[in-house]
Amino acid sequence: MRVLVLGGGYAGLALTRRLEDRLPPDVELLLVDDTGEHLVLHELHRAIRRPSIVEAISIPLADVTYRADVRTGTVAEIDADERVVTLADGEQLEYDIGAVCLGAETADYGIPGVEEHGTPLKTVADAETIREEFLDVLERSGDRVVIGGAGLSGIQVAGELAALAREQLGDTDDGPELCLLEQKTSVAPGFDAEFQDAIENALRESGVDIRTESVVAGASEDAVELAAGERIECDQFVWTGGITGRTALDGERPVVRKTLRLADRTFVLGDAARVVDAEGRRVPASAQAAVREAAVVAESMVRLVEHDRRAAELFVPRPEPFRFDSPGWVVSVGDDAVAQIGPAVLTGRAAVAAKATTGASYLGSVGAVGRAVDLVYEELGPPPSE
Ligand SMILES: Cc1cc2nc3c(=O)[nH]c(=O)nc-3n(C[C@H](O)[C@H](O)[C@H](O)COP(=O)(O)OP(=O)(O)OC[C@H]3O[C@@H](n4cnc5c(N)ncnc54)[C@H](O)[C@@H]3O)c2cc1C
Repeated sequence: MRVLVLGGGYAGLALTRRLEDRLPPDVELLLVDDTGEHLVLHELHRAIRRPSIVEAISIPLADVTYRADVRTGTVAEIDADERVVTLADGEQLEYDIGAVCLGAETADYGIPGVEEHGTPLKTVADAETIREEFLDVLERSGDRVVIGGAGLSGIQVAGELAALAREQLGDTDDGPELCLLEQKTSVAPGFDAEFQDAIENALRESGVDIRTESVVAGASEDAVELAAGERIECDQFVWTGGITGRTALDGERPVVRKTLRLADRTFVLGDAARVVDAEGRRVPASAQAAVREAAVVAESMVRLVEHDRRAAELFVPRPEPFRFDSPGWVVSVGDDAVAQIGPAVLTGRAAVAAKATTGASYLGSVGAVGRAVDLVYEELGPPPSE
C-alpha cells in the first residue's frame, strides 16, 4: 500500500511527520516535492534584509523525515479519482491514499503588466531579486517603491524594505517613498480591527505610506496604474496581491469543507485549497492553518489505512472534521512586530519576542532544532558573551 504526500511545505511536512509516527512499517510513505527542501515561507521576507537567514529557513526534507521516501520531482497532473499523479518527467505514481499539499502561486489576476513587472515573494530567488532591485534603487536615489497587496506578506515586505533603507542610509529622509497599496479598506484584510490598526501604526511609524481602497489595474516598467485612473510612478514594484492554484490543479484552489477531501481517498490542504471548516468559517490561507489541517488529515488517512488492512470490514471510517482555532497572529514590521493573542494586541518587545519564538518553536516542532536557535539569533541577535 502506498500513501502519497505531494508538497513538503507546512501542510505536507506536518502531515508526513505525523504519518511517519502512525503508519504501520509495511505501508510505503512517499513525499514528493519539487525542491526537496522545506522552506519556512512565513520568514522569507526576512531574507530581503538578511540573506544569511536562508540557511535557517531552508531545510532539506530528508533531514526532517525519518521513514518517508523523499522524492524530488515536480507534480504536473493529479487524477484524484483514479489516484494517479504524473510528474513533469512523465513518470506516473499510483497511490492508495493521497494528500495534495502543493501550496499556491502568486495571482496576477490577469492584470496587464503585473506578471512582467511585479516581483512576487514565494521563493528564495524572489527575495534575492527584491533585495538587489531595492539596493539598486537606494544607490540610484530612486523616488518610490510600490508594494501591491497588504496581506501578511505585503505588510512584512514593506516593513523589511523600510528597515533596510534605514540600515543603508541611516535615519535620513533620503530614502525612496515606500507605497503600500491595498484594494480593501484596511491593511491585513479579514483580521480584527485592533490588529489592523496596530499594524497600520507600526507601518506608518517606519515611514511606509499606506494607500487603501487602491485597486491596481496595470503595471509597466516605471509605473503602477490604479483603477481610479491614477498613475503612480515607481522605480520598483513588488506584487503580493493574492494567491491562485498550482498548475497541477489547473490553476484552481478547490473549495473543500470540513473533511478536506478532494475525492474519496485524496485530501487537499494548506494554501492549495480554499478551506471552509466544520463551523462554516472560511479558513485563512496561512502557515498555522496548514499545520492544523495536517493534524486532522493525518488522523483521517490513518483511519483509512487501518480500514483497508481489515479487509473484511465494510464500514468506511468517516474523516475527522476540521475546526480552525487560531491561538493568534504575529507579523513583523522591520525590527518591530505586532501580535494578536486572543483579544489582546501586543506591540514592541513583547510582540518581537512572540514573533521570534513562533518561528523558532515551529522549527523545533519539525525537528530542526539547530535552525531554530539560528533563527532566534537572526531575529533577536546573539546572546551577550559571558
Ligand atoms: C512573505 C510571507 C509571509 C507570511 N507570513 C505568514 C505569517 O506570518 N503567518 C502565517 O500563518 N502565514 C504566513 N504566510 C503564509 C504561509 O507561508 C502560507 O500560508 C503557507 O506556506 C502555506 O503552507 P502550504 O504547505 O500550503 O504551502 P507551502 O508552504 O507553499 O508548501 C508547498 C510545497 O509544495 C512544493 N510544490 C509546489 N508546487 C509543486 C509541484 N508542482 N510539484 C511538487 N512540489 C511542489 C513547494 O516547493 C513547497 O515545498 C506568509 C507567506 C509569505 C510569502
